[in-house]
Amino acid sequence: MTARMRIDPTQCRGHAICALYVADAVEIDRWGFGRVVEAELDTRQAVRRARRAAAACPNGAVVVTDGREQSGPAAAGTDPRAGAGRW
Ligand code: SF4
Repeated sequence: MTARMRIDPTQCRGHAICALYVADAVEIDRWGFGRVVEAELDTRQAVRRARRAAAACPNGAVVVTDGREQSGPAAAGTDPRAGAGRW
């Protein structure tokens, strides 16, 4: 099982709660904002802890995907290249 974790910086409010669950995968800056340093979750325990972090984040900023989902501008529909060739 491989999953991925990310923190949405537009939602993160710096509570630093996520680090209580995934201390090895998240770095907290001096203001308390989280940043993922280890996105690949390759053990069940890592996935479980990441999901707990996602559930505990009061802003829903921690996102855990199953690794097959796309992320980034193309997935968000904001990649200007995504529409190329439609016309
Ligand atoms: S718990 Fe949520 S809001 Fe707080 S630092 Fe982590 S991701 Fe950001």
